[in-house]
Amino acid sequence: TALAELLNSRIRDVPDYPKPGVLFKDIAPLLADAEAFGALTRALADRAKELGATKVVGLEARGFVLAAPAAVAAGLGFVPIRKQGKLPGEVFRRSYELEYGSATLEVQRDAFAPGERVLVVDDVLATGGTIGASLDLVKEAGAELVGVVVLMELGFLDGRERLAGHLDGAPLETL
Ligand code: 5GP
Repeated sequence: TALAELLNSRIRDVPDYPKPGVLFKDIAPLLADAEAFGALTRALADRAKELGATKVVGLEARGFVLAAPAAVAAGLGFVPIRKQGKLPGEVFRRSYELEYGSATLEVQRDAFAPGERVLVVDDVLATGGTIGASLDLVKEAGAELVGVVVLMELGFLDGRERLAGHLDGAPLETL
């Protein structure tokens, strides 16, 4: 599609970042381009509305940058899922395995009112660990998942397969 071509043209491949052998997808040029960032924001907001979301959830840190303006554009509130130790008060917590070691994500226990419908947004689906843990947190906090939208999917890492058991039938879409 024209949107996918526009977004693709504003993503920069950075070899050997953050370590040798990794080809990092850098979204800084996209965020710096008003037309591309605006089109991305509108596409995310449209999906939030079409899916009947009542909240847009962003994953620290690049997910915040995409999800927050989309929430505002859709007339919805925003909820952050953060790395361990950043959120005050009671939280739900999930750890997941990385290539070396593990990572932990948290959401505030009172983030969602009963019956809330959530769209989860992040920039990149790689192995699926980050989104998988986030979907478990959304569920544990009592919200219903209506969809996951990412800017990019690194298909060769099989994240989509890893997420199959976490989606409960909700769509996983790549822009
Ligand atoms: P996963 O948990 O699916 O393996 O990794 C996804 C997370 O790592 C996302 O939150 C994303 O921000 C980050 N990530 C992994 N690879 C890349 C990449 O090439 N570019 C960007 N921008 N983020 C990445």
